[in-house]
Amino acid sequence: MPNALNLDGIALTREQGRWRRVAEKLAAEVLRPNAPELDRSGAFPEANIAALKASGLLGLLIPKEMGGGGGDVVTAMLVTEALAKGCISTAMIYTMHQSTLPLMCALATEPQVARFLAPIARGELFGAFAMSEPGSGNRIWHMDSHAVADGDDFVIDSFKSFCTSAGHADFYLVPTRGHAEAGAADLSLFWIDADVPGIEPKGEWDGMGLRGNGSRPLHFNKCRVPAGNRFGDATAGFSFMMAYSLPIYLVGLATCYLGLAQEAFDAAVGHVKRRVHSDTGRSLATVETVQRYAAEMKCRIDQARATILRVAQMSDNATVLFDEFNRAGLLDEIIRDNPDDPYFVELAELKILASEMAVQVSHTALQICGGQGYKRGHPVERCYRDARAGSLMGPSDDTLKVIMGNQLLGTPQPWA
Ligand SMILES: Cc1cc2nc3c(=O)[nH]c(=O)nc-3n(C[C@H](O)[C@H](O)[C@H](O)COP(=O)(O)OP(=O)(O)OC[C@H]3O[C@@H](n4cnc5c(N)ncnc54)[C@H](O)[C@@H]3O)c2cc1C
Repeated sequence: MPNALNLDGIALTREQGRWRRVAEKLAAEVLRPNAPELDRSGAFPEANIAALKASGLLGLLIPKEMGGGGGDVVTAMLVTEALAKGCISTAMIYTMHQSTLPLMCALATEPQVARFLAPIARGELFGAFAMSEPGSGNRIWHMDSHAVADGDDFVIDSFKSFCTSAGHADFYLVPTRGHAEAGAADLSLFWIDADVPGIEPKGEWDGMGLRGNGSRPLHFNKCRVPAGNRFGDATAGFSFMMAYSLPIYLVGLATCYLGLAQEAFDAAVGHVKRRVHSDTGRSLATVETVQRYAAEMKCRIDQARATILRVAQMSDNATVLFDEFNRAGLLDEIIRDNPDDPYFVELAELKILASEMAVQVSHTALQICGGQGYKRGHPVERCYRDARAGSLMGPSDDTLKVIMGNQLLGTPQPWA
């Protein structure tokens, strides 16, 4: 349907509109053309990353005073949706990179801004967030590994069970317990450069979907890093992850699946318009059942988009508060005392809603594309497989429902 009124549904600032156009262009010119081959081969999207570096999008969330784009969570949502429509594997890589940024920006000392954040803002470095450990799996707030202080350095021996961009990122942000006696959620956050001796990716990523994002295991095998590579103190990392990473991570994941669902919808609509039955002489688009399915998909996508936008706006407001708590030196205490804040529950709800929506929409899209859509290489077949990762990524939707249930029923959270 032509968008004659040209209404977007949300009022974008000029900056937001500009960033979204950058992402849309990148998706159309680079990501979408590369997506089928990445899915076939499972190769890491090096060309897409090079284009991302050149686009300025890698520094979007870094404040302007640190040399970055000064974007907020809403802008990140707009950009990520546009990228995910082109290639969800690349959008996921981008989301994991983005998830490292706000917390480093909140904690960085002046030398750390110059050494770590400025090169990201210049588009020179892209990163990965290595959280998951084999012992705790999807419960990504719980680390078994710990840092060991050794003179002016730390030695990190930490096996991560999955890490998007493993072996391809320029740096890894690695949460680990601050010391041997630290509790499972008393975390330190370390920047580890990709060329530090001891970084060992294990095997090749060969997933059912999201095949172009290199999410293989990664061993930081007694990696030695200077003390200046630690962001913040020895044990407050978990609170900073909750305040600054969780919003961009969960909004980002939800938005990846929103973009994927929109892509599945668009591909299915294109298919049913082209597919004409010889006996009726009419396209599938004229079949009432297909029309109902199209309407149902659209309702689900729009509902998710509205919810993601609302929570993204809430996250931008929350960041202002967290910055105040951080400046007052109270952030760790406030986050630890409020594990059940309704804001965190909204974030949990968001991921569940978006990942379930993407599975439903790609399922319906496949249904109306019939046997043609079921064939390898059809966009809805790829979307269907890609969508399935949403509910599994940590925290798994099942774990998030337990977290929500604890909040709603007043029972303790697993990390409290
Ligand atoms: C494509 C992809 C990319 C990824 N990228 C990254 C990354 O960049 N960085 C990173 O750190 N990790 C990453 N991960 C890992 C991810 O975040 C999860 O940690 C991982 O998928 C968990 O898998 P597992 O087999 O260990 O799950 P398990 O923890 O073994 O859980 C398996 C299932 O058991 C159930 N379950 C487990 N615990 C609970 C509970 N407490 N309550 C209710 N149900 C429960 C759930 O149904 C869950 O899905 C990625 C994973 C995938 C698939």
